[in-house]
Amino acid sequence: MTRFLEIARQTGTVPDLPSGHFIGGRFQQSSNGAEMESFDPGRAEPFARFARGGLADVAAAVDSASRAFDDTWRDMAPAERGRILMRAAQAIGDNADRLATVECLDSGKPYSEALGDVGGAARAFEYYAGACDKLQGDTFPLGPDYIGYSLHEPVGVTAHILPWNFPISTAARGIAPALAAGCTVVAKPAEQTPFTALLLAEILHDSGLPDGVCNVVTGTGAEAGQALVSHPLIDHITFTGSVATGQQVMRSAADNVTRLVLELGGKSPVVVMADADLDAAADGVIGAIYENAGQICSAGSRLVVEASARDDLVDRLCRRAAALTIGHGLCDTQLGPVNSAEQLARVAGFVDRATQRGIEMATGGSVTADPQTGAGWFFEPTIALSGAAEDELVQEEIFGPVLTVQTADDAEHAITLANGTRYALVAGIYTRDFGQAHRMARRIDAGQVYLNEYFAGGIEVPFGGNRHSGFGREKGLEGLLSYCQTKSVAGRIAGA
Ligand code: NAD
Repeated sequence: MTRFLEIARQTGTVPDLPSGHFIGGRFQQSSNGAEMESFDPGRAEPFARFARGGLADVAAAVDSASRAFDDTWRDMAPAERGRILMRAAQAIGDNADRLATVECLDSGKPYSEALGDVGGAARAFEYYAGACDKLQGDTFPLGPDYIGYSLHEPVGVTAHILPWNFPISTAARGIAPALAAGCTVVAKPAEQTPFTALLLAEILHDSGLPDGVCNVVTGTGAEAGQALVSHPLIDHITFTGSVATGQQVMRSAADNVTRLVLELGGKSPVVVMADADLDAAADGVIGAIYENAGQICSAGSRLVVEASARDDLVDRLCRRAAALTIGHGLCDTQLGPVNSAEQLARVAGFVDRATQRGIEMATGGSVTADPQTGAGWFFEPTIALSGAAEDELVQEEIFGPVLTVQTADDAEHAITLANGTRYALVAGIYTRDFGQAHRMARRIDAGQVYLNEYFAGGIEVPFGGNRHSGFGREKGLEGLLSYCQTKSVAGRIAGA
């Protein structure tokens, strides 16, 4: 069923989009009536309006979450929490076309990628639904006269600050474990992509989530975001976004001693050794850098290739990159637009400066447009034959469809190059030598390492960064535990 996709292709928007915040189980306008526009990056035009929240809206949402925590959610039987989350997983799947179409319009990503993200969101709820009644503590061996055990208690009200590149995925991967642990939620989606978080909150509510357990306030980072992360009743913050904003959020969290997880940027290496299956590696690298037009925190944006395979691999990559279909996400092309005019200017700035420094672009390198309409914020799939290790093209997260190529003399050199930035989010390794793969996996600094398949894994696998890529882990059982605080109980058995 692609009813919403067809409607959006004809009308350029989706009917019945929510225009308010979702607070206390219903949509409501901003307290001051303020609104803002959301743009379709594929046409570079606004397609809908949404509420621009501020201090009062955030206060209402936090109050609602705080009351729901005390009144209903914390003490609901874990199995019952699990049943609600499982119904939500089913309902997300039932609404996949609507959610994917909205995501496609809001973020610009190709429809099938958006559909994949919605499937991932449903899977996150399914995974954590099954974990609700298995969140067991430990017992401690204190000897015959004592008893000791631990409880995993929910931390309380959790704030989720979301980015624009994977709106529903990042919402689901934070909200599902928070709810499973017994926490209540206030989410603030990015101002570029407000809609799927709102629709998700409505779906959760319709699946049986009590009023106030999951709230969404839309608006800017400076207004709604800042108000949320500084609110004294917030017990935990999960922030996904840029390093600079993450640092600011960390400062706000410090004022209230609020715990936090920071999922920040990356400049992740894909190491390809000469013995690798070069066709598989080329496919992997293309997906690693051009999926979502390179706007992925874990994009494989640096190819680190062993010297003897370099020319062959770069040649395969250039042919594949040049063959990618470019166009509006609703037409389900292989490369959609970047998300905003600012982002397009940022990507073009990196490439223009590199060209001025004499760095050769093996393919691409220019701003372009949807070939059907001549509109939109598009950038060609680009491969830069990068310069020195300290060059900004090697060091900085571009967050666009730009791959930089670094050449390694051998495995040791590849490890040094892979570890050569301030980021440490993910790394890919392609080799047929499994011993080599595991040796490298240990020596490369990254939160996760993909062997012979970039982006391998799923919700079961913990995800997060080291160094400037942040700290804390989402996904997996470790993601669930970040929404819990351990309480140890120990004492003497009466009469002993
Ligand atoms: P951003 O930091 O500009 O914005 C992220 C979110 O923070 C938005 O919701 C924004 O409104 C909000 N925000 C802005 N200022 C705030 C403030 N003072 N207080 C509270 N909230 C505030 O980042 P972006 O441009 O939206 O996203 C791109 C970045 O996100 C990239 O660096 C990318 O690597 C990173 N990212 C990381 C992951 C991950 O899992 N590690 C996933 C996706 C994106």
